[in-house]
Amino acid sequence: MGDFSSFTREVREALGKKLCAAFLSNGYKSAVYAPFAADAAKLALDMIPAGASVGVPGTVTARQLGLIEKLEAKKCVVYHHWDPSLAAEGRPERLMSENSADWFVTSSNAITYDGKMVNIDGTGNRVAAMAWGRGSVLYVVSVNKAMPDISSALARARDVSTPANALRVGSQPPCAKIGHCVDCKSPDRLCRAVLILERAAFGRDNHVIIVGEDLGY
Ligand code: SF4
Repeated sequence: MGDFSSFTREVREALGKKLCAAFLSNGYKSAVYAPFAADAAKLALDMIPAGASVGVPGTVTARQLGLIEKLEAKKCVVYHHWDPSLAAEGRPERLMSENSADWFVTSSNAITYDGKMVNIDGTGNRVAAMAWGRGSVLYVVSVNKAMPDISSALARARDVSTPANALRVGSQPPCAKIGHCVDCKSPDRLCRAVLILERAAFGRDNHVIIVGEDLGY
């Protein structure tokens, strides 16, 4: 009898490396596979220089990697609007600081086997920086978010990512109660801006780390 977990790791590595090749061919400056979350955190910290300013939007993945604390420990200035000490009136300025930092570190709701990214946003700050931000962009994405094509990636973003995000922020769109999207008209609807990145955006460096462990929603 073989080691089932090692078989799973092998399959995830094969998929992760295929995804990296796809992102490189789509204009990303680097795309690297990290088998474990700790490897991904180390790669991110090696990439971002000490003292850089870093914007971290609403991303569970970056927080699971402990990137905010680790970047602050290397004297980076980290802007993140989930900061519990941030007053409501300071939020707009914090969002601007996130998006205009030297680096923007985020994940993606879903990625496709041919190296595209699909993201759905409520406020629009995260997809705005993905499409156009001042600094370099680093995407850290688990292989559990890889889907065959745009259609299935959109379905993942709506049926998997959004209900979990709604519960996280204490919002009550229908998907948070029934577990899948019904294209609602709820005032709590989180899906307001959809971004499909078919290629890396022009004008700055875009990097990807694909992680073999499950991370984020
Ligand atoms: S459109 Fe509404 S029901 Fe569908 S995922 Fe978005 S918030 Fe949920």
